[in-house]
Amino acid sequence: MATASTAIEPKVKISATKLMIGGKWVDAASGKTFPTINPSTGEVITQVAEADAADVDKAVASARGAFEKGAWKKMSASQRGVLMNRLADLLEKNIEELAQLESLDNGKPYHVALAADLPLTIACYRYYAGWADKIQGKTIPVNGRYFTYTKHEPVGVVGQIIPWNFPLLMQAWKLGPALAAGCTVVLKPAEQTPLTALRVGELIQEAGVPDGVVNILPGYGPTAGGAIARHMDVDKVAFTGSTEVGHLIMRAAADSNLKRVTLELGGKSPNIVFADADMDQAIEGAHFALFFNQGQCCCAGSRLFVEEKCYDEFVEKSVARAKKRTVGNPFDKATEQGPQVDQDQFNKVMSYIESGKKEHAKLLAGGNRVGDKGYFIEPTVFADVQDNMKIAQEEIFGPVMAILKFKDIAEVVERSNKSNYGLAAAVWTKDITKAHAIADGVRAGTVWVNCYDVFDAAAPFGGFKQSGLGRELGEYGLANYTEVKTVTVKL
Ligand code: NAD
Ligand code: MG
Repeated sequence: MATASTAIEPKVKISATKLMIGGKWVDAASGKTFPTINPSTGEVITQVAEADAADVDKAVASARGAFEKGAWKKMSASQRGVLMNRLADLLEKNIEELAQLESLDNGKPYHVALAADLPLTIACYRYYAGWADKIQGKTIPVNGRYFTYTKHEPVGVVGQIIPWNFPLLMQAWKLGPALAAGCTVVLKPAEQTPLTALRVGELIQEAGVPDGVVNILPGYGPTAGGAIARHMDVDKVAFTGSTEVGHLIMRAAADSNLKRVTLELGGKSPNIVFADADMDQAIEGAHFALFFNQGQCCCAGSRLFVEEKCYDEFVEKSVARAKKRTVGNPFDKATEQGPQVDQDQFNKVMSYIESGKKEHAKLLAGGNRVGDKGYFIEPTVFADVQDNMKIAQEEIFGPVMAILKFKDIAEVVERSNKSNYGLAAAVWTKDITKAHAIADGVRAGTVWVNCYDVFDAAAPFGGFKQSGLGRELGEYGLANYTEVKTVTVKL
């Protein structure tokens, strides 16, 4: 564990723990609450109101009202952009507090939240604020004496179900395009990490967003989340989380009102290192690609394919790097890795480590819990992993690196694509031909060349195959929040 010497004491006061419906902070209809846990200690931080179907009904009615009449409906597109920029300014003003709250609830290192999560979150709101008054249709030269044009109208009331790995950022990816397009929202944060979403709710009010435009309902998946997914008056649902739940969301949409569905799901992304790569960059890049955010990234480089010619050197240096990774108090600047988000995720990751051992992958670093409280796991490296092993096929979502050996381009492309997932991929090489062969051959929504986890609000992100449906971010992400209306006028 990192020493406590450079640690700070978080100073957050928690003000928002209820449901935000129609601009009011209210208890759940059932009166129930649930605890949110500090993953560093396993202790309860606070109780939060627990939404269920009755609260979802109220929130949807409020969002419907705000969509159809009132200030939001009447507001100009540019004014929506002004409000979103004001929200971004408020996030910036409260950046340290928000990063502390994120760190406390999720376990990610505070200095990482401050340097990565918060700036990306703020940039996302600003990016979409800029789009608000630039969403426009076309005029289309049809046959006959007609004038035909298209309008891009807001899709309506949107349900948004977000995960716990990047709570603030995933909220921004969802709210940004929805608000820019003029939609209204019922948003459910993950039950593991409700606190920052609720705090942003307060800032949304402070920014002057009209009541009912954004409703925030902390609660559990099968209850509150399920009620959103099957609601007859929700026009679209946007979900980020496991592929398993992605199937449920789509089924609920099909069985209810055919609401529009976008899904951002899991991955098992190939990260491919050729022998001609800058070795130091590739080793550090692969380390970051897997271990960033405690390994809890949908796009983690979790199948690390290394060319035979540099395999031994790469493995040896990657193991040394993993052994140096500092695990401990998220409020210590020296900490690279905090705890996993909760006991369930901890158990799941530990069971994958057991499975790797049982299937005779070579365990070269880590493999154990760190300390005796909280959900800390040693940075773990398996080498000589085979394609058919469970740790090469399933999403681990934890600090467990799996290194596989390959010989040539055709083989590594084929093996990369033997997966139900297709979220991301990366290649490390100085040879532009190899880089393009991978970028072209791999079936994935994002390909990074000599870099990893480079995100920008302007660059679309999403999955091929069972990694998802639709794209988030950029103009493509915006398109999922509008309906196209064709108007034809006889001349
Ligand atoms: P999950 O899919 O169960 O949870 C994600 C969100 O969906 C949460 O808000 C949750 O409350 C909600 N949800 C759960 N069941 C639901 C249902 N039946 N209807 C509607 N909403 C529902 O994920 P998890 O259990 O927290 O984690 C399990 C695995 O999912 C992880 O190990 C990881 O592999 C994957 N995961 C992926 C991402 C990602 O970024 N793509 C994020 C979190 C988890
Ligand atoms: Mg928590």
